Amino acid sequence: MNLFTLAGILTVLALFLEWVFRLNGGLLIPVLIFLLFLLFWQQHRLLLWVRAGCKPPVPFLFSPFAEIAQRLLRQREQARKRKRRLQRMLLFFREVAGAVPDASVVVNRDGVLVSFNRRAQQLLGLDKNQDSGRPIDHFVRSASMDSFWQKIREHDQLQLRLISDENCWLEFSRVPLTQGNSLLIARDVSSTMILDVKRKAFIDNASHELKTPITVIRGFLEVMTPETLPEKWRQPVREMRKHTERMQLLVEDMLQLAQLESPDQVLVEQSLSLSNFLDDLIVEINQDFAGSVGAVCGFVEPLVINADPMILHSMLYNLLANALMHADSRSAVEVTCARSERHLLIGVSDDGIGIAPEHLTRITERFYRVDRNRARVKGSGLGLAIVKHGAEVHGGSLSVQSSPGRGTSFTISLPVSRVIAQNLPPES
Ligand code: ADP
Repeated sequence: MNLFTLAGILTVLALFLEWVFRLNGGLLIPVLIFLLFLLFWQQHRLLLWVRAGCKPPVPFLFSPFAEIAQRLLRQREQARKRKRRLQRMLLFFREVAGAVPDASVVVNRDGVLVSFNRRAQQLLGLDKNQDSGRPIDHFVRSASMDSFWQKIREHDQLQLRLISDENCWLEFSRVPLTQGNSLLIARDVSSTMILDVKRKAFIDNASHELKTPITVIRGFLEVMTPETLPEKWRQPVREMRKHTERMQLLVEDMLQLAQLESPDQVLVEQSLSLSNFLDDLIVEINQDFAGSVGAVCGFVEPLVINADPMILHSMLYNLLANALMHADSRSAVEVTCARSERHLLIGVSDDGIGIAPEHLTRITERFYRVDRNRARVKGSGLGLAIVKHGAEVHGGSLSVQSSPGRGTSFTISLPVSRVIAQNLPPES
């Protein structure tokens, strides 16, 4: 029954009786007081029921209070169902995250731990009761970096050896999430790394062992000049000399690459005037490749940089030697150097035969050759691998642009922090 309809009927009835029996308000006033009381009582019941959490059953109420109560009850039931569904989903996702064999950690924009799974607790030694809200840098520390969080934000992917366990290598990837959070996924790659270290150590040892016998053979072949040999031995000895030189080059490059790849590689850094360094290199390469198109310095910004001179020499020598070997006897090979906002860029470009696009991603692999039958080009097949690793140990990278028949440009890009000063022109 609607409360207002009831109030209307009672009021009309009271008015009619008042008129018939001339009661002068004797009935109407108590009826109105009763209706007012009824209204407040119903409102109070509804309020008490809402305050108690709208739990069933619905108390006795007149319409429209009864309708309001029914709607509130329905909404409460729907909200409860939604909450139960979300709880089930949350539980499911927690279970999935917990069962993932990789460690997963969510950190906020400041690198503070928000949540992590079971594997993260094992791998990084996290405690689920204590460590939420603490910086990830407290738990992931490596001798090779000051701040893990800063490094992973710059690179999104990195491998590191934990300070807390020298035998543990972890590979981290960062996936940005909403609200500045990040998901860090860590995989234990210790067995692969140990295998890799063993492989490199084997190559290193084998190269060392080969170095001495090759030097001895080469020494004997050096003294066997054509005049000291009978005619029939001259050609074979020439061939032997050529192959021993190649073997020596190969062993030297293998040793150098093993050293660059070693986790214990330490840069012997010096401040170098780039223009002087490049001038000396150009003189040396032009002597070694006399008769070729030759190399020249193009635009070279006068800078003083901080780098390992031996490694930088080897990187640029390899690039220049490659360019001269593949140049097409047109213009000289050019070396340039310029500073951008974030990088120091050293370029070596030639207008030689170029490299087809399908080879570009593979040419820095060990022993990868574009044309395996190219007899006139000699080299160990390790040159570009050395350049790439040399750039990486300086915190940089190697890139290449090439089009067949038109030439190739290699660019070593180093962090601009390697530039320590501007070369001042000599005072006149
Ligand atoms: P290699 O000892 O064979 O030169 P590298 O690692 O230095 O080994 O180079 C790998 C391959 O990349 C070379 O065999 C050659 O095919 C190609 N390459 C390197 N530099 C150039 C260049 N400037 N122009 C054309 N091809 C090049």
